[in-house]
Amino acid sequence: MAKKLQSIRGIHDGLPAEVAKWRKIEDVARTVFGTHAVSEVRLPILEPTELFVRSVGEETDIVSKEMYAFEDQGGDNICLRPEGTAGAVRAYLQAGLTRAGAQRWFYMGPMFRRERPQKGRLRQFQQIGVEWFGVAGPVADAELLSMAQCFLDTLGIQQVRLEINSLGCVACRPAYRDALIAYLKERAASLCATCNDRIEKNPMRVLDCKNETCQAQLGDAPEMVGHVCGDCATHFAGLKAGLDALGVRYEVNPRIVRGLDYYNRTAFEFVTDQLGAQGTVLAGGRYDGLVESLGGPATTAVGFAAGMERLAMLMTDADALVVDVVVVALGDAALAYSLQVAKQLREQGVAVVHAGGGAAKRQFKLADREGARFVAVVGEDEVQQGVVALKELATGEQKTCDMAEVCLSVKA
Ligand SMILES: [Zn+2]
Ligand SMILES: [Zn+2]
Repeated sequence: MAKKLQSIRGIHDGLPAEVAKWRKIEDVARTVFGTHAVSEVRLPILEPTELFVRSVGEETDIVSKEMYAFEDQGGDNICLRPEGTAGAVRAYLQAGLTRAGAQRWFYMGPMFRRERPQKGRLRQFQQIGVEWFGVAGPVADAELLSMAQCFLDTLGIQQVRLEINSLGCVACRPAYRDALIAYLKERAASLCATCNDRIEKNPMRVLDCKNETCQAQLGDAPEMVGHVCGDCATHFAGLKAGLDALGVRYEVNPRIVRGLDYYNRTAFEFVTDQLGAQGTVLAGGRYDGLVESLGGPATTAVGFAAGMERLAMLMTDADALVVDVVVVALGDAALAYSLQVAKQLREQGVAVVHAGGGAAKRQFKLADREGARFVAVVGEDEVQQGVVALKELATGEQKTCDMAEVCLSVKA
């Protein structure tokens, strides 16, 4: 017997029960984002490797060891996208939209990172992301967060709390960075190897270390929110006032950081305790520096992303596809008519499985297995009268109906 092939480790199949949840997430996203005038874009899965080297950065784990990057047959360096923001910025610039006013985009689809599957990480994961370009003030940040809250609420995801922080800007961050580096250097001997590596390169990431020994050292570390300039303070106050006005509850968490320099001012995470230590459900922030760093004009931008697998874990109800009617044909003479019955019901939006004719016992067994709500039985009498015998399986109730009556009963 031939050897069975397996999917790549960390890459899972989307089977019907899981996809039912993804579809619900997608439907809610289209509805909620649509009311905020956010349009869907569909961006390439393959991008030039350089795009992520320049945006996400060479020194990050993502670019240095997690990208599926390779040289194709033509010698071009391409990779499977590890995240969505960089591609969105590239597309925005490539389409020449920087002068076209604010652009509000969202996208859904697979991202790829070669992470360690033994830790439960997925190497292909579904992400839903939102990017707003050309929107500056704190009102936009508050509205984006209100939209994210509405999205989670509509999905029925509860026990999620919003944490916000300010990351400062190019004017105020350098002084804070110096203060933080000085503080960390005094404690370097007690920090882990990764943190020691980051003290000079990316000191804010040290605050984010999951190592308990490190966290114990950082209790009174200087915080960005205490070092922001006047403009950043005004922006942060405006964000909080906007969230209050919109009834979005939040806490300030001075430890929220982003590893990358182009993030500024607003950073946020919706977190939950229901998923163990890895509690982030949806995260994002303002990244006013990215468009410029990828060769465009200075452009304000803010966005977020959420992993669909994680959202799905927090959702209770999956609206699995329900078979409304199984059509059973008794005798060869009824087969042609029974096929037409199935087709007509489908044209009316009814989900139908045709049992295929043949032995009655097998067809009724099939109806059971499909979990159908109704069985429409067609024999010679029904063919002659142009009706079906409709049986509701939950009640055992049976009646003779024409097509219109079948639709009414099924949709009731
Ligand atoms: Zn500032
Ligand atoms: Zn550490």
